[in-house]
Amino acid sequence: MNYTSTRNNKVSLSAAQVIAQGISEEGGLFVPESLPKLTHERLEKLIPMSYIQRACNILGDFLPDFTPEEIWSCVQGAYTDTFEENRPAPLSKLDDTTYMLELWHGPTCAFKDLALQLLPRLLTVSLNKHHPSKTAAILVATSGDTGKAAMEGFRDLPGTKMLVFYPRDGVSHVQKLQMQTQEGENLQVCAIEGNFDDAQTAVKSVFTDSDNIQRLADADMFFSSANSINWGRLVPQIVYYISAYCDLLADEEIALGDPINIAVPTGNFGNILAAYYAKEMGLPVGKLICASNKNKVLTDFFKTGVYNKERDFYMTSSPSMDILISSNLERLLYHLHQEDDQEVQSLMEGLRNSGVYRLSSDVKERMDQDFFGGSCDEEQTLTTIRRYFESHSYLCDTHTAVALEVLRQYTEATGDTTKTVVASTANPYKFVGSVLSALTGKDEQGDEFELIRQLHQLTGLPVPPQISSLPEKEIRFDHICTRETIGETAMSLLGI
Ligand SMILES: *Cc1c(COP(=O)(O)O)cnc(C)c1O
Repeated sequence: MNYTSTRNNKVSLSAAQVIAQGISEEGGLFVPESLPKLTHERLEKLIPMSYIQRACNILGDFLPDFTPEEIWSCVQGAYTDTFEENRPAPLSKLDDTTYMLELWHGPTCAFKDLALQLLPRLLTVSLNKHHPSKTAAILVATSGDTGKAAMEGFRDLPGTKMLVFYPRDGVSHVQKLQMQTQEGENLQVCAIEGNFDDAQTAVKSVFTDSDNIQRLADADMFFSSANSINWGRLVPQIVYYISAYCDLLADEEIALGDPINIAVPTGNFGNILAAYYAKEMGLPVGKLICASNKNKVLTDFFKTGVYNKERDFYMTSSPSMDILISSNLERLLYHLHQEDDQEVQSLMEGLRNSGVYRLSSDVKERMDQDFFGGSCDEEQTLTTIRRYFESHSYLCDTHTAVALEVLRQYTEATGDTTKTVVASTANPYKFVGSVLSALTGKDEQGDEFELIRQLHQLTGLPVPPQISSLPEKEIRFDHICTRETIGETAMSLLGI
């Protein structure tokens, strides 16, 4: 099975090639030419397996140019002794129809660890196949969680150098400290003035600048990406939705073939796209519930079929979803348009030129069969955190609260009582100011580590050591750049 580009169907590359390259030359995203099938027999075989075995089984189909030994060693390395109790994606039952898929028990306490513990290992194998003597320069734009998770995954990995750019005023204090204190000799961190979209656009421009590409080539280097546009980020995420279904079967919460719904707090559309792929492979999934915060460009898109990024940008208490250009949506568009690369190209051109595109009514209809979109404002986010803590003794973070609220809206609107897996994407301590404010009803500000102490006192939820040890760590990075200077900054941080 090979991969093609959403903007050029003539492209046909192996898995290792697309993982090494990150993004297609003409700017399109890589997508599989066909999808492996998940039959009932196959699901049944996955039930008794460990998470690592399930991951190897599923990845095998997506990475046919990797040997089983290579896959095993990548997966084993990614998920052994890196997650609490060696359970990367445990399910926690909230009530008769709601199951929290807790994806935040890894090194950086957010779901991106699931992909970013594995991607660097897949990338190393890929590089050895195609560019054995070159260094990959990995550029990351982060809304907070990706950067840290990527650095944990890549630190001191031979053949790689990493630069992380985050919006100076768009991340929480804990997130910022996590990045500024990062250890590792092959990485650099820089703040950029502006919001996440500015950072993402600026990083993309560094990637595609032909001067930069040449300078890198002269230094035996090439650009690669660890952002969720890299296929190697998505494929590990497909695994945990399938694994969650198997866990529900193993616990006899559902019977084989029963549909489940999946609710995902969404920013760049990566996590929910992975759930879509699982559904397309044959996982019994009814609706995919796409939850947005106050930046509800996706909610409006699902309601109207019009994507319009020309709108106010809000900084919210769920900063990892403060995004107006959801890059991975391009992959969904490609599949919804039945692999029509020209159509995707013209939609993306519309987005670039006027900030808007519109789906035809038949494509919109196709989308409606799979997706429900809803949004949750700031007040609802806090109310939801408080409500679930009081009624279920379950403490969730701000992003997960957005998903729970939109799930409530969906249930209210449709009466659908299908069992639902909710992607729980971050440890509540990562967004302590908002979570504590939700519980006390006051605007809790000030030293985040004092707030962490208070939240612990109030809830008893253990503080993960990765967070409690942060204040003792040395700040290693305090660079700041602008959209205009990012190119030069990147080159100088790479030492060329
Ligand atoms: C990145 C992130 C999201 C959004 O995920 P996407 O794949 O970008 O849609 C949600 N919650 C948290 C905590 C995140 O870090």
